[in-house]
Amino acid sequence: MMEVLKQFQKKNNNFLKVFFLFLLIFFCTLQISLAKIFSDFLEINGSFAQGGLLFGKTNSKNKVFFNNKKIFVNDSGDFVLAIGRDEKLENLILIEGPKKKETHKIKISKRKYKIQRIDGLPKNKVTPSKEELKRIKKESKKISISKNIFLNETFYKSGFIWPVKGIITGKYGNQRILNGQPRRPHYGLDIAASLGTKVFSPSDAEVSLTMEDTFFNGKMIILNHGLGLNSIYSHLKTIHVNEGEKIKKGDLIAEVGSTGRSTGPHLDWRINVFNVAIDPELLLLDQPEF
Ligand SMILES: [Zn+2]
Repeated sequence: MMEVLKQFQKKNNNFLKVFFLFLLIFFCTLQISLAKIFSDFLEINGSFAQGGLLFGKTNSKNKVFFNNKKIFVNDSGDFVLAIGRDEKLENLILIEGPKKKETHKIKISKRKYKIQRIDGLPKNKVTPSKEELKRIKKESKKISISKNIFLNETFYKSGFIWPVKGIITGKYGNQRILNGQPRRPHYGLDIAASLGTKVFSPSDAEVSLTMEDTFFNGKMIILNHGLGLNSIYSHLKTIHVNEGEKIKKGDLIAEVGSTGRSTGPHLDWRINVFNVAIDPELLLLDQPEF
């Protein structure tokens, strides 16, 4: 009887050991995507992955450089960092204080994107005309200017929700190779929903641009969430906000449409820090509480 009991305990012990080992591995993996406190100088939250958005906190007197690029730090010590689709896996962040300097390695996990090869397609017959090219250039300049507007606000601290309920038909980072020619990767999320479905603001924002008729994006909106963070809504049927308007998370901003270059009603949703596009799905998954 004692022998059986001892054996049972031994087995149980082994089970516990394995269980704790798994727990340890689980938490170590979890650490990749949770808040990281690098020192009393630097704390970073968010997705430590390609396409991730990082929210940093430091002393407001410190200067921050991400891979040698200067990052704006506001009066409360807040800053945001965008990790590009193909960003390298080891990045450097330099914190420069009045007295002290610190360099930290920021490790990023690699993402796998869907690459779709389609061969044997007839040569592209739809080449934009000279007039259209002129128009495209003009529109993309306006969009680029709007994406680069700097607003010293932290509207994004209200958090992010889905702007629309629908089926995700296009993911961030996916790329098509047509007849061996790599196309520009998709830098947004395509969310299919029926015509006229309400689109809500995912976070507090100021409306920085509305355009009624663009060649590629049709009717579109750009929202500014502060410190360089902006979001773009394309192919809309109707726009319900005006440029310069301040809006709250959950406010109605538009209706789903199929305007511009679109094959059916859907919302093309993009989030950028200035020009660098991040993955909205990752942001919704890993966003910190402010
Ligand atoms: Zn799209």
